[in-house]
Amino acid sequence: MFGLKPDVCHIPSPDEVYSLEDYEDGVARWCPGCGDHGILTSVQKLCREKQLAPEKTVFVSGIGCSSRFPHYMNTYGFHGLHGRAFPVASGVKFRRPDLNVFVVTGDGDCCSIGTAHWIHAIRYNMNMTVLLLDNSIYGLTKKQTSPTSAMGTKSNTHPHGSVLPPINPIQTTLGVSNVSFVAQTADWNPAHVYETIKAAYEHPGFAFVRVVQRCPVFMRDLYDAAVSDPTALTLLTHDNGIKVHENVEKGFKKIIQHDPGNIHKAREYAEISDSIPIGLFYQNKNAPRYDEYGAS
Ligand code: SF4
Repeated sequence: MFGLKPDVCHIPSPDEVYSLEDYEDGVARWCPGCGDHGILTSVQKLCREKQLAPEKTVFVSGIGCSSRFPHYMNTYGFHGLHGRAFPVASGVKFRRPDLNVFVVTGDGDCCSIGTAHWIHAIRYNMNMTVLLLDNSIYGLTKKQTSPTSAMGTKSNTHPHGSVLPPINPIQTTLGVSNVSFVAQTADWNPAHVYETIKAAYEHPGFAFVRVVQRCPVFMRDLYDAAVSDPTALTLLTHDNGIKVHENVEKGFKKIIQHDPGNIHKAREYAEISDSIPIGLFYQNKNAPRYDEYGAS
């Protein structure tokens, strides 16, 4: 576990505020054009808006490109073992419920080696914000098929194309007992990314966000068309959902009104295949939380 830069590890006086720079730590070593850069910026902006005390905030990750995230946040961080971010984060939250806990994981980390931990973390519903940065490939190890790679994806493990249908992380999360918050966004729509992460942070429980993330090095063609195609995303919207400014909403050609209290419709919309559905699929603020067990 690592911690804060000593020069900013202080409690601000009441008239002090944290600036964006207070959450930044070094230059991110992700490739130019990697979707992770914009997601990092959105998270740092959220920390500033919520004035999260760096000494009360911890980012936990596993292994993979996205799991370098804690190194670039000037908060506490734990860059752990492959697939083990969830048990570490659960331990932190259970022992220190006063901390703001974030998990940053990737499609290999969460949906392959870490799947058992992912499933039980959903059910435990401990109060934390979870970002699955899903680029549909193993990037750190130079292009192997991941559990979320689309059928036919050519990689170093499947040079003739992957042969199995991918895991749908939204559908999987929605299928677990005691699920309480499931949302999806896409890294190339920063306004939506920000509002989604904010809604997740404000949710009292295990808030799962899949961020569809570009890897321009190993999956260059996957999202190139999507980024410039206004019909590539379908916006799920509702008064109880994730709201974006009306000017942002005008940019969407496909919009569905979806009540995030309806889990059956959420499962139906998770199967949309002619575009990428983004928004809040499901929310239940009253699901029991394991981090409250024994608190009363
Ligand atoms: Fe990002 Fe891909 Fe580079 Fe990894 S390999 S840092 S996911 S662009």
